Amino acid sequence: MNNLYAIYGASGCGRSLMPVAREHLVRLGIQAEIYFIDDALTTIEEVNTHKAMNYTHFKALPHEQKYVLIAIANSRIREKITNQLLNDDINLWSVRSNTTIVMDDVQIASGAALSPFVTITSNIKIGKCFHANLYSYVEHDCVIGDYVTFAPGVKCNGNIHIEDHAYIGTGAVIKQGTPDKPLVIGKGAIVGMGAVVTKSVPAGVTVVGNPAKILEKK
Ligand code: UDP
Repeated sequence: MNNLYAIYGASGCGRSLMPVAREHLVRLGIQAEIYFIDDALTTIEEVNTHKAMNYTHFKALPHEQKYVLIAIANSRIREKITNQLLNDDINLWSVRSNTTIVMDDVQIASGAALSPFVTITSNIKIGKCFHANLYSYVEHDCVIGDYVTFAPGVKCNGNIHIEDHAYIGTGAVIKQGTPDKPLVIGKGAIVGMGAVVTKSVPAGVTVVGNPAKILEKK
């Protein structure tokens, strides 16, 4: 029996990652259909020429091994779905584009989506279900936690630590740290689009602007 591959989420993120998943399989010489899973669907439909169905339908398909890339930007939903998949003995799937560059000594946990023109340089550790959107880069000696999301064009320079569930907006620039004092983006922090982050960001806050400052809740 063949393995079965799917992209979870058939909205913007999923539809942008499907071509990346297709070229990923071609690169590995694997011939297989890739399905969409989306819980908003009640019947089996077609999305961009791929079969699309909800999770209950997908789970019922009789395949030996199933591999699923969670293509949903919201990291809390990625965590919830990861737990559900692991509970059902379904594997997290990682994909990368043919134009993605990964250099030396890079460890990336399962479930990663590395979009076109992403570059991950050397001596980097990245946790589960990382999303690096178009043209983002991660420079040397960074440590990135689980369920971290980069929107397009994020410039993550060297010696930066990014904790679980942080979200980095489009075009944000994060200043490099040093080996003995990395710049830290705290757990669940949000960096607004275009922000220029010059110092560490505490957990849970949102920062915006140049230089980036904490956005106070009104
Ligand atoms: N979704 C799902 N199961 C969930 C939560 C979300 O299938 O438990 C689907 C939801 O129906 C939607 C997609 O995931 O189609 C998320 O799309 P959204 O436009 O919110 O975000 P994006 O595609 O940018 O991540």
